[in-house]
Amino acid sequence: MPPRFHVPLSLHAGADLDLPDAVARHVQVLRLQPGAPLTLFNGEGGEWSAQVLQMGRREVKVRVGTHTPVSRELGVAVTLALGVPANERMDTLVEKACELGVEAIQPLMCERSVLRLAGERADKKVQHWQAVAVSACEQSGRTRVPRIAPLRTLADWLAALPARSDGARVLLSLREPGPLPVAAALRELTALSGPEGGLSDAEESAAALRGFAPVSLGPRTLRADTAPLALLAHLALMSEGSA
Ligand code: SAM
Repeated sequence: MPPRFHVPLSLHAGADLDLPDAVARHVQVLRLQPGAPLTLFNGEGGEWSAQVLQMGRREVKVRVGTHTPVSRELGVAVTLALGVPANERMDTLVEKACELGVEAIQPLMCERSVLRLAGERADKKVQHWQAVAVSACEQSGRTRVPRIAPLRTLADWLAALPARSDGARVLLSLREPGPLPVAAALRELTALSGPEGGLSDAEESAAALRGFAPVSLGPRTLRADTAPLALLAHLALMSEGSA
């Protein structure tokens, strides 16, 4: 299978284009030669065949071939709002959530969060997670790259949410939770999941006031980086399992 790359540019069949530096570096590392096939996608839907025309010292020129209007997106548009787990666990979580089809990720700092970042350090982390998301989409065949929103506190995020939503809102909870919504009936879902230390009572109550219904993933306490992935896997299986 030809290597796949996300190219955030306008793509047209028959056009010659210089790959952006970061993509060109990947192509150089793979030591592709003129004539080598590639697959490109730009996040606007579908993907293009392409062929390497020239390998420069740094630049790589390609010719764009035909467009295939393929979609490998999850049927439910899931936004994961989650208390960011510390260390490299968030990298793994972003990678796996993108593979499983998440639409957007909202990283949050909660009362009991270990990770606390602001300003430039927070921005750099988000850029890093966005790059992880791009790689995951290149690898998994997705044609749209989930947006990683700026890091913010749970309180600020909840306050800015509209009181009403067209989609469902669920809170992954170990306290008095109800059943998961039926995937086939869902178009949009925002799921809130806590950090390592869980959400406080006050945070769960604030989420409930914004319409988040508590749901359970079973009687076991899952780690902060496992729970959102279990939900996504469930939704993928229930909405696409027989495809
Ligand atoms: N001791 C913490 C508590 O009681 O909340 C455990 C937090 S758990 C490591 C991190 C988050 O994962 C929780 O806040 C919750 O959102 C989610 N979670 C873990 N296991 C879950 C389950 N079985 N059902 C629903 N959500 C779960």
